[in-house]
Amino acid sequence: MKETATPEGSRRPVSISDLEVHQLSALVRDLGAEPYRVTQILDGAWRSVATSWSGVTTLGKPLQERLTTEIRFSAFDQVERQEAEDGATTKLLLTLADGAKVEAVLMRSPADPRRGSGPRATVCVSSQAGCAVGCPFCATGELGFTRNLSAGEIQDQVRIARQILRTESRELTNVVYMGMGEPLQNIDAVFASIDGLTDPARGAIGQRRITVSTSGVVPGIERLAKQRPQITLAISLHAARNPLRDLLVPLNRKWPVEAVISAAAGHARATGRRTTYEVTMIDGINDRPEDSAALASLLRGSGAHVNLIPMNAVAHTPWKESAPERIEQIANELRAAGLTVTVRRNRGREAGAACGQLAAERAGAPTPIAVARRRELLVAASVAALQGQRTPQPIAPSGPLGGDA
Ligand code: SF4
Repeated sequence: MKETATPEGSRRPVSISDLEVHQLSALVRDLGAEPYRVTQILDGAWRSVATSWSGVTTLGKPLQERLTTEIRFSAFDQVERQEAEDGATTKLLLTLADGAKVEAVLMRSPADPRRGSGPRATVCVSSQAGCAVGCPFCATGELGFTRNLSAGEIQDQVRIARQILRTESRELTNVVYMGMGEPLQNIDAVFASIDGLTDPARGAIGQRRITVSTSGVVPGIERLAKQRPQITLAISLHAARNPLRDLLVPLNRKWPVEAVISAAAGHARATGRRTTYEVTMIDGINDRPEDSAALASLLRGSGAHVNLIPMNAVAHTPWKESAPERIEQIANELRAAGLTVTVRRNRGREAGAACGQLAAERAGAPTPIAVARRRELLVAASVAALQGQRTPQPIAPSGPLGGDA
């Protein structure tokens, strides 16, 4: 089995999605197969419902067997599937070759005649196993960081989503990099995966149907504008003022609100594409009148779109989602400031709720003492942040991977 070195220095077996077309052509040549087999292999990987080389019947048995010994058909050893919302949402827990677990979520929406849009199917993919940013309202942040995903491991989340949709006679319409991990802290693999997904011979997805969401990695936003200008930028903002954003998005200590907004404005100017801002709505933390006024003032005139998303409950925080009527009030305040606003439902609530929650459950629960300590620290830090004090240090996860109790 062919292997590749990971950025972390370990080795792992190569899957078909890790290979660019010229690398696959070289492999086919080395195997003594005819060049037309390259197209058959790519079609088998990207346009069939096969789950192994032996399922790609166009290849014939000898080539199926050679491929089985040379490259993995899929990056995943195990695929667990949970349905929610009467089948509108499918949550996938995927086990990688080294045992790391990541999640992808497939969301289906009906046609919307008012907006003139057809049925949509969006897959939300992970770019890292775990995440180093450590946002305290996020189940993935609580897991800590395991490793970056390869371009193939990212693309294979999309392949699986397309296979599921194919059995339902549906098409994948959108891809969002909004699952586990901070995509712009794994930017080379993310860009390589975008190249694979948009390659007509492989994913064949329009670049404008792809969104990359970041918690505010400013150099990455600048690279995205220069190197992949057709991709939509989403910013996980969550708070408009630095003391609170330091707490909610610890990366804010490195790239504060003003730097992130300035980079996003630069991206919008350079690409002509509208930025989306995401705000997870947390009761009594970022939904107070002064918070919504600061948000409206920060984004006024930007032409941005704002998604307001009720927080999913996670065990290690004392926080809960904002009241629906408060979220509607804030949406109206932002609309009055000239912004377009969508109030999102939390997709997948029944299926393990927040992104990272299934993986966190499998990793094992942190000790009750660690959870209690973390909750106390968060209460103290949020009191300080709401009084306008900036906290110097992020609060470490309570576990299971980052715990110390
Ligand atoms: S919200 Fe995003 S950036 Fe923050 S910890 Fe979770 S996955 Fe990482």
